[in-house]
Amino acid sequence: MIQNTPEFQELFDAKGQALGALLGPEAWAHVREAVLSRFAPAEAAAPEACEPMQDWRDLVQNWDFKYPVDHDVACGECGNITGAWELDEPRKFVLTAANLGGLVAFRCLGCQAKIMKRHFKDSIKVETRPFQPEKSVRNLGRGE
Ligand SMILES: [Zn+2]
Repeated sequence: MIQNTPEFQELFDAKGQALGALLGPEAWAHVREAVLSRFAPAEAAAPEACEPMQDWRDLVQNWDFKYPVDHDVACGECGNITGAWELDEPRKFVLTAANLGGLVAFRCLGCQAKIMKRHFKDSIKVETRPFQPEKSVRNLGRGE
């Protein structure tokens, strides 16, 4: 039989059904990572947690443009700007797409605009698209 200690207490209801447990700080610290990684909703993670970093690294590794890898991003909508998007703390832009063709896209965390950087052999073309909420499903003639 498990004996309760100050570090944890198993809880049961009147019928003896397990309800869970209370953990002391030391016990909680011991299992915290495991519990969070298993049960914490993904939305709680930092915005950069789901960046396609591998795609970006692939592009950097196969860089065959005539200029060095560029790390700057500027939002044409709200003026958010960075010299190195990966290093900002907290982040100002998150990477949303990157491909070997040289297209790199970011989301501005200031105004949600989409910033696209198209890398051509000699130059980079930057385009900012204002944030547009997902178009709601239109009410197209419903039978009546
Ligand atoms: Zn912006």
